[in-house]
Amino acid sequence: MNKVIDLRSALELLRNTPGQLIETDVPVDPKAELCGVYRYVGAGGTVKRPTSVNGPAMLFHNVNGHPDASVAIGVMGSRERVAKLFGCKKEELGHLVQKCTANPIMPVVTNEPAPAQEVVHLATDPDFDLFKLIPAPTNTPYDAGPYITLGMCYATHPDTGLSDVTIHRMCILSKDELSIFLLPGARHIGAMAERATELGQPLPISVSIGVDPAISVTSCFSPPTTPLGFNELSIAGALRGEPVQLTPCVSIKENAIANAEYVIEGEILPGSNNVVEDRNSHTGYALPEFPGYNGPASHECWLLKVKAVTHRRNPIMQTCIGPSEEFVNMSGIPTEASILGMIDKALPGKVLNCYAHRAGGGKYVAILQCRKTVHTDEGKQRQAALLAFSAFPELKHVILVDEDVDIFDTDDVLWAMTTRFQGDRDMVPIPGVRCHPLDPSSSPLYSSSIRDVGISCKAIFDCTVPFDMKERFTRASFMEVDYRKWIKD
Ligand code: MN
Repeated sequence: MNKVIDLRSALELLRNTPGQLIETDVPVDPKAELCGVYRYVGAGGTVKRPTSVNGPAMLFHNVNGHPDASVAIGVMGSRERVAKLFGCKKEELGHLVQKCTANPIMPVVTNEPAPAQEVVHLATDPDFDLFKLIPAPTNTPYDAGPYITLGMCYATHPDTGLSDVTIHRMCILSKDELSIFLLPGARHIGAMAERATELGQPLPISVSIGVDPAISVTSCFSPPTTPLGFNELSIAGALRGEPVQLTPCVSIKENAIANAEYVIEGEILPGSNNVVEDRNSHTGYALPEFPGYNGPASHECWLLKVKAVTHRRNPIMQTCIGPSEEFVNMSGIPTEASILGMIDKALPGKVLNCYAHRAGGGKYVAILQCRKTVHTDEGKQRQAALLAFSAFPELKHVILVDEDVDIFDTDDVLWAMTTRFQGDRDMVPIPGVRCHPLDPSSSPLYSSSIRDVGISCKAIFDCTVPFDMKERFTRASFMEVDYRKWIKD
């Protein structure tokens, strides 16, 4: 099995694993068609059915208008695949990544020639054109424009000199301009852009596209697990047991991921946060978002003025579908790690595992597998749920089950909710809590109990058996046998 160090070695591993990668030379339009294909093949997540939940990744080699490039989609589109790429079991991903947050390995800057800079295009070149240089797909015909969905945005705080990596959606607006969406009040790159604006300075930023999946997943950590100043590339370093290699950019004072497929270099202009994302198309939509609905176009994006694009020879553009299983994994595995880390500190041993379920895009729903061994453990499962809400503030629903329930099997979880749950005593509402604005029910129009968009009634669904009643809830047990003897051919 080959070692994964970048996107190409990740694809090579998938190529050598049956059923994990489809490559095609059939021509495809990056505008809506490519994602329209992958919707059926492997999008999963919160995409409207029919869609395949555990389908293969795809590599398109014949993308209209981009003869020298390929487009990869769904690389992290199943939990099995991410586990394979991380070298662990799919049930262990949250625990593994949590351990890495506790033992970070900082990135290093190398002066070796960087694969990401094999080809250099400067924005001062007369034929420089982002539309031609980057095969950025649109998810649907209604998207604001071509999007960079898997760009690792890397910048440095003007005061502290500490760097951060975060993924933000970026729409190509012109030959040398991108919109970048930074949620107002956001605490990583957004905080840096706001501080640079106060100082009247542009914020240099590199956007590395097509990287080791260890980087893509760990870039999605948020506070409190990774407060401002915690460079998430150090978690990816821990996952691989060696530092991520950075290379100095060619046109700005910042670094980029040395073995990326593409790097966009540029500056976020100070005070530019009034950019209309769909200013070219006027569709009203940005792109489909993780809750499964079309996301509104923002009128508060920042402007990223591009100075250069560098890439490998025959680069591979990497992209994802907004409401996909791939998003669930990128967002959900850090959610699980954050929750497990917090509960391990406060209630060691009481929660065995956590799954940030696909129905919530890896953000809204967490299922906790609880263990009660003594009578004083009764009630600690609900304390664990409160800790989960603190560990990941965007969480809306926590479902608690016992250790005999498979949290990755939704049928089993719904069984617990059916036979170990009474609606009047086991649903614990926590109204009026700030949650996430993209949940369309999180609106004053939906309920008078909600005072602002983004406020929700969080809820705990306690589907655990009361400790003093455990006896009555023993599952029917079968004889333990080595069944394989009967099914061998
Ligand atoms: Mn970050």
